Amino acid sequence: MSEPEDASVAPARGRKPPLLGIAVVLLFVLALFVLERWRAAGEGAQGEDEVVRAARPLMGTFFSVEIFFGGRERTQAQRAAGAALDLAARLEERISEWREDSETSALNRGAGGAPLALSADLLELITVSLDWARRTDGAFDVTGGPLFELWEAAREQGRLPDAAEVQARRDLTGCDKLHVADGSARLERPGMKLGFGAIGKGFAADRMAAFLRAGGWRDFIVDAGGNLVLAGARGARPWNIAVRHPREAAPFATCRATDCAVATSGDYERFFEANGVRYSHIIDPRTGWPARGLAGVTVFARSGIDADALSTALFVMGLEPGLAFAETQEGVEAVFLAEDGAARLTSGLRLENGELLLPLSPCAAPAEAGQPR
Ligand code: ADP
Ligand code: MG
Repeated sequence: MSEPEDASVAPARGRKPPLLGIAVVLLFVLALFVLERWRAAGEGAQGEDEVVRAARPLMGTFFSVEIFFGGRERTQAQRAAGAALDLAARLEERISEWREDSETSALNRGAGGAPLALSADLLELITVSLDWARRTDGAFDVTGGPLFELWEAAREQGRLPDAAEVQARRDLTGCDKLHVADGSARLERPGMKLGFGAIGKGFAADRMAAFLRAGGWRDFIVDAGGNLVLAGARGARPWNIAVRHPREAAPFATCRATDCAVATSGDYERFFEANGVRYSHIIDPRTGWPARGLAGVTVFARSGIDADALSTALFVMGLEPGLAFAETQEGVEAVFLAEDGAARLTSGLRLENGELLLPLSPCAAPAEAGQPR
């Protein structure tokens, strides 16, 4: 920008400036400055202006990071949020089954062949996935790739696959056909495929949270496409999140929580209808067909990877078996919303005036300053 050329607004050279006028202007500027600091301090106490946010499209959805930086530099917090997203981008390059050059794609292409040595990241992701497959009796299964693809194509074309197609894909599914040993993995049959759509985002959220903690950040929210990891608080107030209603624009409930992970699986974002039935993108690997009965499940757990895997597994199990299973899991609470609109909660949760309370859960937020709960 250039300087204004209009000389008439510049002070005439050689004339004495009026001292009283200058003093008044200085006083006015000082008063404004003090007022601004006072206002900022008031807001700071609420944590309003001490939060940075960064967001980016990742893993086929949207990731964001919010950091409460009270007492530290805003620019430092901004940099940390960006670096956490960079870390997720690098993970995506490695684990995404949708990227030709990922390790997962190399493993899928080599199905039926020799074992492939894996990075520590992919090895951990596969190990945790296999553990959840075992614990959920196969309701959660990352070897369901061929089935996920079949139903993805069905959704795009708006037509149901026939029983023979489903059966052929089921023959290519099953954790008993995925072998892991000595840091390598092998898929037994050609055509087998791993897909981490139900667990990769929670895994990434944990890694991003660990990265932020290592940088000394104590108060943040990582949101990996609806898979949240919450830490600390937003200044004097707890983080306040919304539990989405699968059929309505308004949230099912709000919830104040801290130091835990939250994930939702539902039939409302990716689905298609045939013969009056809604088919979601969550597949029951035991039948080869989309799971039915629930509209959404929200899970509170200690880690993002567990919350993500469990929300999908509980959705597959359905209302009563899912509720019974969730009750057996240490540090886990869940909200089940049935297709007919009914809501059921695990025993550690309470719903009061649209707010979900977590009195018995490790996620329970501390009372707000000056407001005992
Ligand atoms: P979203 O990814 O929409 O947040 P989920 O976490 O429930 O929801 O993951 C659903 C995705 O996971 C599907 O698109 C598919 O790729 C994969 N998937 C579907 N059913 C299963 C299952 N039973 N076990 C493991 N992965 C699944
Ligand atoms: Mg999931």
